[in-house]
Amino acid sequence: MATESTSKNDASSELKIVKDATCTFCGCVCDDIELHVEGQHITKAKKACVLGTAWFLNHEIENRPSCLIEGKPASVDEGIERAAQILARSRYPLIYGLSDTTVESQRVAVSIADWAGSNIDTTTSVCHGPSGMAFQGVGEVTCSLGEVRNRGDLIVFWGSNPAESHPRHFTRYSLMPKGMFVPNGRKDRTCVIVDVRKTKSAKAADLFIQIQPRKDFEALWVLRALAQGIELDPEQVQHDTGQPLEVWTDLMSRMKAARFGVIFFGMGLTMTRGKHANSEALLALTRDMNRYTRFVCKPNRGHGNVTGADNVVTWRTGYPFGVNLGRGYPRFNPGEYTASDILARGEADAAMIIASDPAANFSQPARNHLANIPYIALDPKETPTTRGAAVAFSVATYGINVPGTAYRMDDVPISLRTAFDSPHPSDYEILKGIEKRIRELKFGLAT
Ligand code: SF4
Repeated sequence: MATESTSKNDASSELKIVKDATCTFCGCVCDDIELHVEGQHITKAKKACVLGTAWFLNHEIENRPSCLIEGKPASVDEGIERAAQILARSRYPLIYGLSDTTVESQRVAVSIADWAGSNIDTTTSVCHGPSGMAFQGVGEVTCSLGEVRNRGDLIVFWGSNPAESHPRHFTRYSLMPKGMFVPNGRKDRTCVIVDVRKTKSAKAADLFIQIQPRKDFEALWVLRALAQGIELDPEQVQHDTGQPLEVWTDLMSRMKAARFGVIFFGMGLTMTRGKHANSEALLALTRDMNRYTRFVCKPNRGHGNVTGADNVVTWRTGYPFGVNLGRGYPRFNPGEYTASDILARGEADAAMIIASDPAANFSQPARNHLANIPYIALDPKETPTTRGAAVAFSVATYGINVPGTAYRMDDVPISLRTAFDSPHPSDYEILKGIEKRIRELKFGLAT
C-alpha cells in the first residue's frame, strides 16, 4: 500500500501521507489523491477538487455508540441479533441504499435479500433508474474514461453539469487532458453542451444548445432523423425543440465528422418528462452514429459507488435495481419493486437502509410508512433515517477508514486505501453477521 509516515517538528503527532488515495464523493472516483493525515484528521487532500477536499477534510469520527437499539446504546452483537430477527420475521422486507459503500458490502446485502426473500433496491432508482431500464431495452455502446481521455474529439454533455457535480471531469477525463490521439488536449476537442438552462458547464462549451424544458426526447429524435438523412419541417423542429433546424443540422455534421464522439448524460435527461424513453432515444442515437464513426455514451453518475451497486445487483440477480426476491428468484419491475413506491404504498413491513437517507428525501407518504415499520440503518453519520431506526449502526467510512472496491462511473473497479482506523465496525462486518444469523433463523444453517 502506498502509505508513508513522515515525522513532523511536533513529536507528539506524526504526519502520515497516503499516496494514490481514492475519493468516493462522486462517480469520477479519482484515485490520484495525496492525503496528509494527522491522528484522526485529514489535514490536506492534494489534487482533490473542492467537493473532494470537503469530503476528506470534514471527515470526523462520530462520537456515539456503534449500535443503538430503540435509541439506547447496545452492543454490536445485540444489534446484529435484533436486526436479523426483524428481517427474518418480516413478510415483505425491503433493503435499500447501497450507493455509498463498498462492492464487498453490496455483495453481502444482496445475499441477505436472497436469504430473507426481500426486495432490494438502490439509489439508482431515484437517479439513473430510467437509464438502467433503457440499457435493458436498447443496450449501450460504451467505453472507459481512459478511452475518452485518449481518443474523444467531440464531447457532448446532455442534461449534465459536471462543472458543479463532477469538478474534475473536464480536467481529468473529458476535455483538458492531452491524449494519445488528441495530443493538443482541449484544442483537439470540441465540446457541446445541451441543456435547458445555461449552467456553469456551458462556459466550457464551444457550442451551447439551449432546448425547451421537457423536450429532450423530441430533440434526440430530430438528431436521429438527421442521422438517417430524413427531411424535417423547420417550423415543426423549432416548435418542438426551441432551436432552429440549422442548429441541429450543424450539430449532426460535427457528430458525423468526429473521429471518436462521446455523449455524457445526466439527470437533466433521465429525470425529466420521458425518463427512460429519453435515455432510450440517446442510446439509440449513439448506436445510429456508429454507421458513420465511432460514438459512445455514458451516464454521469453521482454517488461514489452507485455504479458498483448497479454492477453487483446485476451480476447477482440479472437486474440493476428494483429487484424482488420474494419468490426465491429475481423479478425486476421498476415502479412495483422500487423502494420509494413500495414504501409510499405501505407494502413493506420491515426495512434495512444502508448508507442512504430516505427519511430526508423520499416522498411524504414513503417517509410516513418508513417511520411506522421497524427498520435497521447503517450509516457513518447520524441522519434523519438513523434517528428513526429500531436498530442504528454507526459504521466506519468507506475509502477513509475501510478498504475495499468502488466502481468508477465507467464500470472500472478501483481499490480504496484507508487514511486511519475508526472505532466503529465496517458495514461489511455487520452485514456478514446479519447474513449468518438470518441463515440460522430461517433455514437452520450454520456457517
Ligand atoms: S471529481 Fe469527484 S471523485 Fe474527483 S476529487 Fe472531486 S469529488 Fe472527488
